[in-house]
Amino acid sequence: VMDGFDPEQYDVDFLDRGGTVHDFIDNKIKELSLVGCSEPFHVANLDNLVKKYVIWCNNLPRVKPFYAVKCNDTPTVIGVLSALGTGFDCASKAEIQLALSLGVTPDRIIYAHTIKAESHIKYARTHGVQMMTFDNQEELSKIARCHARAKLVLRITVDDSKAVRRLNTKFGASLDSAGRLLQRAGELGLDVVGVSFHVGCQCTDSRAYRQAIADARQVFNIAVGVSLYLLDIGGGFSGNENFKVAATINLALDDFFPVGCGVQIIAEPGRYYVESAFTLAVNVIAKKVIMEEAAEHNSIEGVPDRVMMYYVNDGVYGSLSFLINDPTSGSEGSERRYRSVIWGPTCDSLDKLTDSCLLPELQVGEWLLMDNTGAYTVCFLHGHDKEQVELLKTNKSINNQVNQSINQSIKLKNLTLVPNPSTVSRKIIIQRTYSI
Ligand code: PLP
Repeated sequence: VMDGFDPEQYDVDFLDRGGTVHDFIDNKIKELSLVGCSEPFHVANLDNLVKKYVIWCNNLPRVKPFYAVKCNDTPTVIGVLSALGTGFDCASKAEIQLALSLGVTPDRIIYAHTIKAESHIKYARTHGVQMMTFDNQEELSKIARCHARAKLVLRITVDDSKAVRRLNTKFGASLDSAGRLLQRAGELGLDVVGVSFHVGCQCTDSRAYRQAIADARQVFNIAVGVSLYLLDIGGGFSGNENFKVAATINLALDDFFPVGCGVQIIAEPGRYYVESAFTLAVNVIAKKVIMEEAAEHNSIEGVPDRVMMYYVNDGVYGSLSFLINDPTSGSEGSERRYRSVIWGPTCDSLDKLTDSCLLPELQVGEWLLMDNTGAYTVCFLHGHDKEQVELLKTNKSINNQVNQSINQSIKLKNLTLVPNPSTVSRKIIIQRTYSI
């Protein structure tokens, strides 16, 4: 399964004593404490990626995943997925460069952005990337000028009202305009090969996929004289392992694009693959205790309740921009817990991670671990030093379908060091719940 993944290339070591990712984090925290550092860091469990790949293959056997690099561009993630056999959705020249530099062949890349700079289209041409999406006439003219032999995929707008983050106000051509666009492509001598859509990120309703697949079928039906052979069902899948939308998608594919119809089916999942693989460790760098008068009637023996305000060293201007308002639950345990507000480190009051978390009282220097932080987080870090990736491996196999074990952890991120001689080793886990 992992043919072609060369651990050497990624400076990988296997965890050989059967340790877990949380053991690894504990050790990392101890190491940091010894040198008086409390910088935040991400840890990725690559077993989790493999597991997700296996779940995908079992649940959507007709759909080949093209992982959306924008969601998390960690080279090791791309290396593992590439070795497992996925394709890649790249949305920019930089993402194409990255994928190619890691040995991904151009035929496994779709340039899935409908709005592209001409220089980026030319870059795709000179590097052999043929497949790309479009949704407007201007883009067709640019492609005709810069990459006349591209294999084009028409992105249509679909109902994304059930998604947490909607995309269809910005991207996609209406069904009404599809015929005109296909005609224009023909006039320009361009080769349109398929149709794509995106139901929006974290789509909560599998019927959105069914309707979108039906809409795509309509485009295939009106494409007289154009031989379409590719359907791209986009992203939008939750990071959850119980792949609830799969059954509906399979049924819709069988109804509208039955086996043997000659249409190849792909998807562009991002969050699905990486969200649950990553844990972020942040350090409490400051604390305030607020006595909450209004809560007095809830207080014990007339003592007003306390609200804890903690300031941690990563926030919405670091790797957590997409986590604003995501559901976050507190930690479990028998200790007394307080309503806790967690702020990021900047001067902006928008830099708040949560304001309703129940946590035991923390001290400055303690660590908070946030699970499920792999999607749209590390890709927004500017200037993080990927050369400093550290990996651990294990020889523990996670699945009998996976013939090579890879419980690996990556330290990805180095922010400014905050010397903290009094670092306390206790860590609290805040469980970020899945959004769906
Ligand atoms: N494909 C395209 C064109 C996108 O814009 C996105 C996300 O913005 C994705 C795929 C990945 O989406 P998700 O992470 O919801 O699977």
